[in-house]
Amino acid sequence: MKICIYNDNRLGLVDGDEVVDITHLMAMLPVPSWPYPRYDWLLGHFDTLRPALATLNLQENRLPLTAVCLLAPVASPGKIIGAPINYRDHIVEANADHEINHGKTYTTLDQYGLFLKANTCLAGPNIDIEYPFPERRTDHEVELGVVIGRAGRRISRENALDHVFGYCVALDMTVRGPEFPGFRKSADGFGVIGPWITTKDEVPDPNTLDLTLTVNGEVRQASNTRYLLFDVQRLVEYASAMYTLEPGDIIMTGTPAGVGPVLPGDEICATVEGLGSLRVRMAQSERK
Ligand code: MN
Repeated sequence: MKICIYNDNRLGLVDGDEVVDITHLMAMLPVPSWPYPRYDWLLGHFDTLRPALATLNLQENRLPLTAVCLLAPVASPGKIIGAPINYRDHIVEANADHEINHGKTYTTLDQYGLFLKANTCLAGPNIDIEYPFPERRTDHEVELGVVIGRAGRRISRENALDHVFGYCVALDMTVRGPEFPGFRKSADGFGVIGPWITTKDEVPDPNTLDLTLTVNGEVRQASNTRYLLFDVQRLVEYASAMYTLEPGDIIMTGTPAGVGPVLPGDEICATVEGLGSLRVRMAQSERK
């Protein structure tokens, strides 16, 4: 299944180049009670929709994908987790570029740990990403996004994929500079995911996917998730050793070499094999 959110927060299934509107199924979800949850309610209770999805008439309520405005496919992630140095070739380029490393020497994820992006940075396709500091270098980072479906802490590598709902393309936008990553990578619009969630049953192995990023049609990043230093299972294990993972949490798994600055008006297209392409623009006008 490919699940999207579009227009005024309608829920859809992507089928070929069309969207099937399934918003009416959300009436089957339980009603949350106070205190309202921090996690994504839809993904936390998605199993209640599965019987109806199995018998859905896919011929009704169809719209061309080109006629809808796709939004971030997770509405309310409790947290967005980033892996800063998870491809060897990116560690090499980061250590060679003072504008990236600012005097630090990157070693291993074991030593640096993960970081959190503010969930207000969440964005979907079709947006114009604004520059928080237009005079400073702002970079693209294409990544495989992992969407958590089932809560857990201290999850073992062996059980890790049981807690995954699906996958998406992710853009971990970044201002380069000396500040903590949790600040530099958390501007509004800097956590782009989409174009939809592909459920894990359609992704036999998340650790063998090609990923590419183009700017204005020119290839800037091209790699494969087989080069992840911490693969998807290890990231789930490592993250959940520190904090409980909840439905809707997103893990951005790290970026390969080729990161670089984007300029006003640039068009970014990020693609992960089997998960679709995510297109966004950098804002034309600078900070108001
Ligand atoms: Mn990143």
